[in-house]
Amino acid sequence: MENKHVIVIGAGFAGLASACVLAKEGYRVTVLEKNSQPGGRARVWEKDGFKFDMGPSWYWMPDVFENFFALFGKNPTDFYELKRLDPGYRIYYGKDDVLDVPADMGELAALFENIEPGSSKGLKLFLEQAAYKYKVGMGEYVFRPSHSITEFIDFNLIRKSFSMQLLASMSSHVRKHFKNPKLIKLLEFPVLFLGARPKDTPAMYSMMNYADLALGTWYPIGGMNEIVKAMVSIAESYGVEIKLDTTVTKIEVADKRVSNIQTTRGNHTADFVITGADYEHADQHLLDKPHRNYTEKYWDTRTMSPSSLLFYIGTNKTIPGIKHHNLFFDEDFEQHANEIYSDPQWPSKPLFYVCCTSKTDPGAAPEGCENLFFLMPLAPGLEDGEALREKYFDIMIDRFEQVTGQPLRNSVILKRSYAMEDFKADYHSFKGNAYGLANTLSQTAFFKPAMRAKHIKNMLYTGQLTVPGPGVPPALISGQIAAKEAMKMMEE
Ligand SMILES: Cc1cc2nc3c(=O)[nH]c(=O)nc-3n(C[C@H](O)[C@H](O)[C@H](O)COP(=O)(O)OP(=O)(O)OC[C@H]3O[C@@H](n4cnc5c(N)ncnc54)[C@H](O)[C@@H]3O)c2cc1C
Repeated sequence: MENKHVIVIGAGFAGLASACVLAKEGYRVTVLEKNSQPGGRARVWEKDGFKFDMGPSWYWMPDVFENFFALFGKNPTDFYELKRLDPGYRIYYGKDDVLDVPADMGELAALFENIEPGSSKGLKLFLEQAAYKYKVGMGEYVFRPSHSITEFIDFNLIRKSFSMQLLASMSSHVRKHFKNPKLIKLLEFPVLFLGARPKDTPAMYSMMNYADLALGTWYPIGGMNEIVKAMVSIAESYGVEIKLDTTVTKIEVADKRVSNIQTTRGNHTADFVITGADYEHADQHLLDKPHRNYTEKYWDTRTMSPSSLLFYIGTNKTIPGIKHHNLFFDEDFEQHANEIYSDPQWPSKPLFYVCCTSKTDPGAAPEGCENLFFLMPLAPGLEDGEALREKYFDIMIDRFEQVTGQPLRNSVILKRSYAMEDFKADYHSFKGNAYGLANTLSQTAFFKPAMRAKHIKNMLYTGQLTVPGPGVPPALISGQIAAKEAMKMMEE
């Protein structure tokens, strides 16, 4: 085993997780990463004393991080200070119409009761069911490689699946318990992380509400990239070599085995390959046709998660009133969702999200300044350009000022936009998607693009486009599953 060499393509969470697990088991591991920083979508951009997490900003499911670090005898807090946010986040429903989601369960129940009399009982039941789903989903389902339906043919699991309302939608499940539109929006929001509409997302994902409301919203001081730094330090402590600025340009296959990996910095060979690069890129652009898992048509007919228009903004003053996480739900949710999924176009009246890390982390901005991250979800594959980005910058700034009552435009001293074309150029992202494939029922578990390379014996796919799905915790889990499967396959 000690002689076996594994190449991991991509230093995102999934690739790094695979690398850490395999190296700890004694394999020689080399990671080939296109960009000059590890972390994939969780890179950082630093300028003029401001430090921006470029992608993920919500630290949910702290148990998944704990479990990962425990594999190496560590704790997240050995690497970064973790702070629970309270309120977890704020929702702006309109001017002077806000809802702060408290960390305390008693306060949360009171808040529900206040908005919809009697609803605290519904909340209790809803969260008990969600807790059960979280326990089963994150315990029994999520670590299955989903190579085939047979992994799920287990009477106990089938029985549990029915009690998890696998076939009902999140939308109907939430409406069964609550009538008030504000509470409905609050409870439907977490599934947006899964990249699909609540009406297309199975109700088993109300486990996300448990993650949100019970397990809480956390922040690693220093930013989400601290997780990446921690993983790199574990990987390197077990001898993993991470080669940055090294783009894989072709995976050559002979006799159903990867025989050579061409990169912009020379060729590599290995006993086994795990590709954590965007699945469609590796499948369609790095492999010759006979070795691909899927056709162009297959990819074209997948429901991708949205892309995003992002702005990284530094101001020369503090912005009072806003919280660390702020959701601007002051426009019609359905209309924006239709403009992402049914009739793809730049939105008429977008919902958007503003993160202000400097509210929690003084290191994110110079003193007296604020670090703001604006995110507007967009249909993947749309036309992108500077003029369009600017148009929406104006729309979001106007709405921000009007809804919060805080002037912002004239305090902006640093600004960078990021959207579809950047996702494609930086990560080889299919259609410029931000977070992979949508978790609809027909794209869950064994219906997702397979981890196994059907025509290659020594290669696997990992990352947010395969199991278990989009998000940092799933990417961490995906990397662990791939490492375990790779070990089995190397032993066969
Ligand atoms: C704007 C945004 C906001 C998000 N918000 C959250 C959030 O708040 N919370 C959350 O949990 N999740 C969030 N996510 C999702 C989360 O960031 C991703 O699901 C996760 O980071 C994906 O990890 P990954 O390893 O699968 O892929 P990636 O991070 O994309 O890693 C793949 C790596 O492969 C590299 N690569 C690609 N092609 C090649 C090649 N040919 N050769 C070498 N290397 C290559 C890429 O450069 C990249 O580093 C967000 C994502 C985005 C974009």
